[in-house]
Amino acid sequence: MEPPLIDPFGRAVTYLRISVTDRCDFRCQYCMSENMTFLPKKDLLTFEELAEISSSFVTLGTRKIRISGGEPLVRKNILTLFEHLGRFVANGQLDELTLTTNGSQLKKYAEALYAHHVRRINVSLDTLDEQKFATITRWGRLGPVLEGIEAAKQAGLKIKINTVAMKGFNDQEILNLFDGPMGRVMTSPSLKPCPWAMCHRTGLININHSPSFSMGSSKTGPSRNPATKQEAPLSIMTSRKLVVGLV
Ligand code: SF4
Repeated sequence: MEPPLIDPFGRAVTYLRISVTDRCDFRCQYCMSENMTFLPKKDLLTFEELAEISSSFVTLGTRKIRISGGEPLVRKNILTLFEHLGRFVANGQLDELTLTTNGSQLKKYAEALYAHHVRRINVSLDTLDEQKFATITRWGRLGPVLEGIEAAKQAGLKIKINTVAMKGFNDQEILNLFDGPMGRVMTSPSLKPCPWAMCHRTGLININHSPSFSMGSSKTGPSRNPATKQEAPLSIMTSRKLVVGLV
């Protein structure tokens, strides 16, 4: 048994977040510009490489792995990775395998995720208003997300909704997000109030222009600030050129 990973503050690193892609099928205004330049696919770690890295972390004491992105479910053949990691849950080496998603692909993947030992997911959802949803996500549609949440619920997944609370945008419907039709699936809604809200899934994004943030005004995205304090003890990104450890 390898000695556990200990961070510079003496804490055991037991929770690993893996960003499997920087791509997303949405273009949330507080996250990305509309015209993004993503990493070349050749620079992403392969699933085999991610599996190898994950296995090493499990050997070093990781007990929980969260898959994130971008939007992780847009990466082709993503179930390959869940299949590999799910085995660690099945044999008791991992306590939990989770996912943070925008929900757009959940209808397609919910049952398979459950089959690969995912039991709990976070879904990013800022509003239940179709028009507002289209505005904030630019490319997203609310309907498929709600269908995905319902599919996940039917598959047996516990769902936590992550909401970025934005003054003047969705603050009036926060209670609806808690107690409305989606309330049945929420286990622990999470609010990350502006101006220092972080990206739903990576935790790397720093909204540095709210509350003066103007919806629908800019095609440029906010800055990314890897130095921002993180929720997760350790996050890794999939690029060969950029592997970041964050505390
Ligand atoms: S906030 Fe999440 S859903 Fe929105 S563009 Fe960024 S990664 Fe995609």
